[in-house]
Parts: sequence; structure tokens; C-alpha cells
Amino acid sequence: MSERILDIEIRGTGNLNQYEELVKVFLQPAQYRIHGEETEGGAEADPSMVPAAVPGPENSPAAVVQEDPDVRRLVYDVSLDEAKDKAGDRYVVIRQMYEDLAAWTGKRPKWGVLTGIRPVKLAGEIEERLDAQSEERSEERSEEERASAAELLLQRQYLLHPHKARLATEILHRQRRLAGQPPEDSLSLYIGIPFCPTRCLYCSFTSNQVSGEEIRRYMTALEKEIRWAGEAVKKAGLRVESVYMGGGTPTTPEPELLEELLGTVDEAFDFAGCREYTVEAGRPDTITAEKLEILRNHGVDRISINPQSMQQRTLDLIGRKHTTEDVRRAFALAKEAGLSSINADLIAGLPGEDYGDFTDSLEQMIGLGTDNITLHTLAVKRASRLKERDENFHYRDEELREKMLAYAGERLRREGFLPYYLYRQKHTSGNTENIGFCREDRISIYNIRIMEEHQSILALGAGGISKVWFPEQNRLERVPNVSNYEIYIDRIDDMIDRKRKGFFGQEE
Ligand code: SF4
Repeated sequence: MSERILDIEIRGTGNLNQYEELVKVFLQPAQYRIHGEETEGGAEADPSMVPAAVPGPENSPAAVVQEDPDVRRLVYDVSLDEAKDKAGDRYVVIRQMYEDLAAWTGKRPKWGVLTGIRPVKLAGEIEERLDAQSEERSEERSEEERASAAELLLQRQYLLHPHKARLATEILHRQRRLAGQPPEDSLSLYIGIPFCPTRCLYCSFTSNQVSGEEIRRYMTALEKEIRWAGEAVKKAGLRVESVYMGGGTPTTPEPELLEELLGTVDEAFDFAGCREYTVEAGRPDTITAEKLEILRNHGVDRISINPQSMQQRTLDLIGRKHTTEDVRRAFALAKEAGLSSINADLIAGLPGEDYGDFTDSLEQMIGLGTDNITLHTLAVKRASRLKERDENFHYRDEELREKMLAYAGERLRREGFLPYYLYRQKHTSGNTENIGFCREDRISIYNIRIMEEHQSILALGAGGISKVWFPEQNRLERVPNVSNYEIYIDRIDDMIDRKRKGFFGQEE
């Protein structure tokens, strides 16, 4: 790739986000500049270099307006893309931008021009559009025909690699078959416990390392919110379809506190008809036989135990402060406790790991007898210690990470695991994806609902972001809690009040 800087001018919109996200997939921050239309007198513009009219889509929508030893300057007029509605092709110019960036860098990212995190949701929307067209024309289409028409559109309009287009439609159909549609009067319940024994190098979540006394103070506030929310859900005639207790690591508190918390949840909510209750046990060093028994006695049927890697030197390096032996012990205990579904997370692209380390961890995790493996690609987010140490970490070894994920996907399929949910994260190594694989029907309903965005989520605790679903307008409205646990404790009445108004629509 050229060492010159790419200077990109976007005309026809005030919002550069979508375009910059695409540029970031190809280039590191020091390799480009992106900005809106330069006006006469603008610091960087030389008006004589700007063409009088930017060519339309019948030609190339981009114009190279400056070439010099340090900079190549490109101008795009995206008013055409911005003007199209959802049914139209909004990607004429951005496709051209993708092609220009591909030519410049020699890369062809497999998710094409998609920078959003929900490709499966997009595949579903495309199928719905195709269905509406078929209905208008009184055409009959089988499920396979619909899926392959959607795949073609994903390839042509969004430039997805055929494998990614196939993966998105495959997962969509598996989700429809195994999870179905959320019942109209249902919601998902999230409860956040923002504490962990230590902080991982790549962590950007609400995770605090505090004394038992502090956890106690937090639980008192959280239980107040839980009791209030339980009443409000009952009054509103809603029912809980799935529960997810995450964080942080919800198994960090001592057994007595965990027992008290789960007891409060049981008393507050009616779980008749609830399809799934997950606790993200996460860190193996927080799991004991006593805590697992508490979970099982309160109806928890799915837990996560997340090794991330089975290489001890990696665990030490990323600050997990547990051993691979702890992972094996936690799995054995969970099986003994009779928990029906165990998920395990594995991360591709951890610092210092090579292909052999990753594939060895995968084999070891398959050997643990888990039902559900989620493959993550390392995301290097702003709030993480890793980002502070190495800002461009996720741009390195992109091909290696892709190779790791491709191998893992194939290996898991051979082992009887099938992909059932997928999301993409910004700032991932190699701009890849996270995929949940499961045996048979061991899906996570909660994970699927979060990605579909067709159900309300009531999120309690520090950092919880509730979302209210308005089906008529096909939109979600966010009602966030504060993420700092101390402020959450101090302002618990305000958090409740936000939900009263924003989630349940009550004035008093
Ligand atoms: S276990 Fe998860 S939430 Fe806790 S510190 Fe590590 S990455 Fe953060």
C-alpha cells in the first residue's frame, strides 16, 4: 500500500460517520483524513483543483482531484445515496468508495460496505422486502429461493463475500426456526452486576474491583430497582421471555449475597412462560459448587464460563488471574450441578497468540463438552488498557485472525455445532465478526432478541440500557441507567423514575 495519505472529501451530507467507518476498515487513523465539503477559503482546499460538477453514478461518483507525492485527494458526492429510501439502492457511491479503497490498499474486506453490527437483521429486512415484492406480483417463493435472492442482494448491493452472505441468511433461518417471533406482550430482562475479581487488559465494560462492603451497598440499590420493576411489569401486563444476568461477572459476590439477589428476582417477577435464565458466570475463578447450586435452585438453566484462551501465558498476560485448571474445574462443577446449557467464549487475536495457540484452545474447549461456543474477535475499545498501550493493535495480523475464525467455524461444524447468532463489533481485529455456535437447539434466546431488535429489553443495574420497542414505527427508544456504580447507588430513585416515564410511559 502507498505511504501517501488519502484525503477524502464527502459532499452532500452533514453526517460522515457511515463513510468514515468504512474508511477505518481499510486504513489506520494516520493514513487518511476525511472531511465535509471544503469551502472557498477553507484551510485545506485549493478551489481550482475541485471539479465543477462531481460526476454522477453513471460515471464514477468519485473524482481524483489531486495527486502529489504525499497526498491523494478524492471527492465523493453522496447526495444520491442519501436521497434513496430504504427500498432503493442507497449504496451507489459507497460501493465506489469501497472499490477505490480496495484498489488503494489491496484489501477486500468480506463484509463489503456493511459497517453496522447486525448483518442478520439486515438479511431479514431484505427478505421481507422481497416477500412484499413477490406478493405484489402474486409470485410464490420457497424458503430456499427467498434465501438465495437475499444472498444475491447482499453480494451485489452491499458487496458481501458470498460466504458472509450465506452465513447471514443461514443464521437468520436457524433463528426463525429455533427462537420464533417474540410474543407481543413479552420482554427480555437484563440485570447487571458490574464487578469482577480483576480487570482484563481488553475490558471496556462496567467492571469494578471493590470490597464486599461496596458490593453489598450496590445490591441494596439494585434490589430496590428489581422490586419496583417487578411490580411495574406485572401492572403493565407484560411477561418475561428470557433473563440475562451479566456484567461484570455476576458470580463475583459471596454466596449469601448471590442467594439474596436471586431470591429478590424470584419474588419480584413471575417467570411462568420464561424460556431461558442465563447467568454469565464468566470468570472461572468465581465459580464454586455452592454458587452453582444457588443458581440451579433459582431456576438458572444456562451459564457462561469464559476461558477466552486455554493458554496459561495468555491468561496471565491479559490479567485474567485464573488458571486453565480453574476452567476445567468450573466445567466439571457445572456439569455436576446439572445446569442444562453451558456457553464458553473463545477469543481470536489475543496478544501474543499464534494460530497454533488458538486452535489448541479450541480443541481443549471442545473437549470440555460445552454445548455452546461463542467465537469472538478481539475488540480494542477506547476504554481498554490495551488501547492505551497499542492504539493500532487491531490492525495487525488481520489475515491471521480471519484464518483462525475460518478454521474454528469449520472445525465446530464438523463437531456438530451450528452458527445461530452473529454480530459485528467496531474496532475488531480484521473487521470480522462474533458468532455463537450451538449444538442442536442450545441457543440463547436473549442473544437473538438483542440482535433482532423486535422486543423491549428492561435493563436493571449500573450500565443497563433499557430499550422500548415501538412495533408500529419499527424503532427502539433507549432508557439508560448510569454506568458508574457509585452514582447508580446515589441516584437509584432517579434510575427508577427514568424507567417509570421512559419505559412504562407513566407520569407518576
Ligand atoms: S471478565 Fe469481562 S467484564 Fe470482567 S474485567 Fe474481564 S472483560 Fe471486563
